[in-house]
Amino acid sequence: MSDAANLEQFRTDAKAFLDANASLRPEESFVWGEGSDRVGVLDEKTAEQEAAELRAAKEWKAKEFDAGFGWLTGPEHLGGRALTAEHTRAYTAVRSDYSVPNQTAFGIGLGMVAPTILAHAIPEVAERYLRDLYRGDIVACQLFSEPIAGSDLAGIQTRAIRDGDEWILTGQKVWTSGAQYSDIGEIITRTSPDKPKHKGLTMFLVDMHAPGVEVRPLRQMTGGASFNEVFFEEVRVPDSHRLGDVDEGWTVALTTLMNERAAIGGGGAGVGTMSLNRFVEMARHYGVADDPLVRQRLADAYVRINVARYTNLRGMATIRAGQLPGPEMSIGKLALTRTMQEVGQMLGEILGPRMIADSGEWGTFAWSEFLCGVPGMRVAGGTDEIMKNVIGERVLGLPKEPKIRT
Ligand SMILES: Cc1cc2nc3c(=O)[nH]c(=O)nc-3n(C[C@H](O)[C@H](O)[C@H](O)COP(=O)(O)OP(=O)(O)OC[C@H]3O[C@@H](n4cnc5c(N)ncnc54)[C@H](O)[C@@H]3O)c2cc1C
Repeated sequence: MSDAANLEQFRTDAKAFLDANASLRPEESFVWGEGSDRVGVLDEKTAEQEAAELRAAKEWKAKEFDAGFGWLTGPEHLGGRALTAEHTRAYTAVRSDYSVPNQTAFGIGLGMVAPTILAHAIPEVAERYLRDLYRGDIVACQLFSEPIAGSDLAGIQTRAIRDGDEWILTGQKVWTSGAQYSDIGEIITRTSPDKPKHKGLTMFLVDMHAPGVEVRPLRQMTGGASFNEVFFEEVRVPDSHRLGDVDEGWTVALTTLMNERAAIGGGGAGVGTMSLNRFVEMARHYGVADDPLVRQRLADAYVRINVARYTNLRGMATIRAGQLPGPEMSIGKLALTRTMQEVGQMLGEILGPRMIADSGEWGTFAWSEFLCGVPGMRVAGGTDEIMKNVIGERVLGLPKEPKIRT
């Protein structure tokens, strides 16, 4: 069968699976004042809503995996189908026509942790976790940031000390999204405090249910609690669960961070809320659609959203071609968060005080949740300033930041 015929047959099979297991997404027609006016960036759910969503997400993921659509590009011996990135694109396109349960809970595990396991775990560990991750049986989180180490990730202090075939982990992580429902975590630790900071780090996979792991939720200013502090008190991790070599954790972290920027810049969070249709209808509703300044802002938002999207697609194409992306991911992420800020400014100009006092009017105060979530997007996955540093050094060829010796 030719490649094209093979792909066509694949699309037909995917459609048959989705027809039998999901319903077609209703045609999207945005009408001002109808339906939900929620436009949040971060998750704002109660514990009960979160548990119900997770259950539905896992049921769907298992069904999708069992039908052969869970991990298309993965190696067959690990549960994948060894198909091409083209197949993933085709499946994503077909699936976008259907309503399926929200899959956000798997974003970090499948978007960042699983590719790192595939690249750096020993075969037994890859076998033990990857199939379960892609089937949605387990969920993974990313345990990188600490109270004194975020942008300066290599400054982390969580210690891992070797004890025979095990390591003993002690320390604190913070801002860990989804730790409250995760089964495993990718954790970066310091193994050689005497070496220069980038050289003494080692990465592990840790069991989030192990004795000594404590997850404490952090409440966001938008009301929800989608991330946490995680404390490790002498937690034992088998040496087999090390990702990469001892003291080579920085290289492993880069694999994860690259995928993180791709996920955020690609519109993982918040972008869906920035629908131009919604803005245009709002401008019409408040009688400012003919105002040249508002029109200019709308056109600007449209251009920026698409520039961020296409820049990110360029980076993703590089990854799919088996190469390391350049600074596209940083440009895409910065373009996205700047657009979110600009959109916030535009909303303020159109809605004025309606956005800060809840009068019950549809589509007005609801935007405050978006505004309060934007700073989080400007920080998560590398702050705006760090993205600018990357662009300054790698695109514009400006001198590197002076190294601070520690
Ligand atoms: C929504 C959200 C989800 C997150 N999820 C996770 C997660 O799942 N796992 C995880 O490990 N972490 C997570 N984080 C943490 C995130 O990675 C860090 O917040 C981020 O890396 C910034 O680190 P910091 O908060 O310590 O800020 P800092 O690094 O202390 O930065 C403070 C300020 O200083 C600026 N700054 C710092 N260094 C420089 C420099 N060299 N040049 C110029 N300016 C600089 C920054 O831009 C910022 O404005 C999440 C954060 C958010 C907001």
